[in-house]
Amino acid sequence: MHILVINSGSSSVKAALVDADSGQHSLWMTVKGLPEAPSLTFSDGTSEKLKTKGHEAAMEYAMPLLKQKLNGQYPSGIGHRVVHGGNVYDRPVRIDNDVENQIDQLSPLAPLHNPLNLLGIQLMKRHFPELDQVAVFDTAFHQSVPSRAKLYALPKEVSEKYGLRKFGFHGTSHEYVGKKAAEFLSADWRELRLITCHLGSGASITAIEYGRSVETSMGMTPLEGLMMGTRSGDIDPGLLIYLQEEAGYTAVELDEILNRQSGLAGVSGLGNDMRAILQKSTEGDRDCQLAVQMFTHRLRKYIGAYAAVMGGVDAIVFTGGIGENSAVVRHWSCQRLDYLGALIDEDVNLAIKLSADQPVVEFSRSHSRVKLLAIHTDEQLAIARHTAQLLRKADAVNTKPAIPIAISARHIHLRQETLDQLFGKNYELTVRKWLSQPGQFAAEETVTIVGPRNRIEGVRILGPVRSVDQVEVSRTDEFFLGVDAPIRESGKVENSPGIHLIGPAGELTLKQGLICAWRHIHMTPEDAVQFGVKDRDIVEVAVENGDRGLTFGNVLVRVSEKYVLEMHIDTDEGNAAEIYPGDEGVLEDTGSSGVLKKRRTD
Ligand code: ADP
Repeated sequence: MHILVINSGSSSVKAALVDADSGQHSLWMTVKGLPEAPSLTFSDGTSEKLKTKGHEAAMEYAMPLLKQKLNGQYPSGIGHRVVHGGNVYDRPVRIDNDVENQIDQLSPLAPLHNPLNLLGIQLMKRHFPELDQVAVFDTAFHQSVPSRAKLYALPKEVSEKYGLRKFGFHGTSHEYVGKKAAEFLSADWRELRLITCHLGSGASITAIEYGRSVETSMGMTPLEGLMMGTRSGDIDPGLLIYLQEEAGYTAVELDEILNRQSGLAGVSGLGNDMRAILQKSTEGDRDCQLAVQMFTHRLRKYIGAYAAVMGGVDAIVFTGGIGENSAVVRHWSCQRLDYLGALIDEDVNLAIKLSADQPVVEFSRSHSRVKLLAIHTDEQLAIARHTAQLLRKADAVNTKPAIPIAISARHIHLRQETLDQLFGKNYELTVRKWLSQPGQFAAEETVTIVGPRNRIEGVRILGPVRSVDQVEVSRTDEFFLGVDAPIRESGKVENSPGIHLIGPAGELTLKQGLICAWRHIHMTPEDAVQFGVKDRDIVEVAVENGDRGLTFGNVLVRVSEKYVLEMHIDTDEGNAAEIYPGDEGVLEDTGSSGVLKKRRTD
């Protein structure tokens, strides 16, 4: 499926015809020098300086030429990069009037980007009225960042009144290289902890835990975090107050300093081109040396922090113009990461040349537990794939059948060995009640779980015994016990905290196994076909209970012959949503609407 990908930015507009299946870019067009002195270039080498000024006039001129050059290779749809999706979008969305209005309303959050992204959409609608258009948001991938990481420690009223929170950017690239890394490592990306470093003229770093962004360095705006080409990244906010009060800087002047005069350019005094800075630093220029040291120091600091956030890391990915091309930056950022289990292979690192034939190179040593990877990012292909996926899916989905909802109280699954320690040798569980999932039962037996603050007695064991111990509690339970458990799908207990258990015949401390269950739907392969989803998709489920319609986002699909159709939520969620046994939900979204209605991410 060929998709026309549009990135309508402040100084340039890029268009590319991309085959979403093969990944081939068969045609591209760039308008640079906007708005004052636009020049137009096509992939066939033709190029001209335009006589007009401004985005709209330049695009009006370029469009008929682009159509001519398509020469029969007509796209099936158009995918747009849109920078800010705010709280509203956590995935790509088919564009209609409502979506356009939303993008417009989100403009105050990205005044340099969203209005021009919208202009691109409107222009393409005029020139290709028959084609479906899709918006792919830079912020969407980071909607999964939990509250603890995305909120600023400001007075609640202020945060709420002005919608202050971290959104994160470069999401399309982080997701793309994260998936590429998993593919390269022949692993399921929902089983990996990745740190992805996107180092272009803007730079950001993301912690991706089991396929979800859980921390990212850019904030409410793209200014926070790493040092960048012309942006400062993290600074003490008190410094801004000082500059305003003591030196009389205005907000406009501070914006100019922080966004356009700082970062590599500000420290080196040489501009924002890392190649030139590296060259001068080897020639002994102190300011350039300092710029490189600061850039890589901050990167290494964030890598350590994000490994701590995820309780470890399996692979660290470098991408973007600097991450893909600079052996020096990779070397400086990866030195002394041995304590994490990351050992750089200097020879391989020096020799890396990414290309279409070799978009991924591993530069860690063979016995390095953490893999170091340089990966070529391809945001245009990522946008084309998201667009094609959404266009295909929208036609295939049947969302109608009702899904029974079950509320899981806190419970525990045990291995035989653990059961023996708690209840006595060769202990066999007694069935109290068969559960709806075939073969599963609530046992007569219960245990006491003991946290640092409190204990909870009578926690029901679910049988039969399993191959891993797993204790599933709600957020309320966690605060009562005084523990902090990650949201996980069942069975994924690696790097989760342990907990103390007491049974009638003994007690023990599990090393790991305490989780807060990720809300999920069990279904058979036949159900999955009917719904148009597959195992581990993430969907939204609408519940009509009484007069309060509500939608659960971030619902994990689990498909197996052994399952019967049922959605599982925990008691906190059931209480908050006033859901009772017997309520049903309807699969509302499998990626085609993308609108967030109600979400719990932490
Ligand atoms: P953008 O974010 O604008 O898409 P890129 O991802 O193309 O930017 O990255 C631009 C940055 O990459 C610039 O700072 C440039 O100097 C740097 N870069 C490109 N090639 C190299 C190289 N060989 N060595 C070091 N830095 C490089």
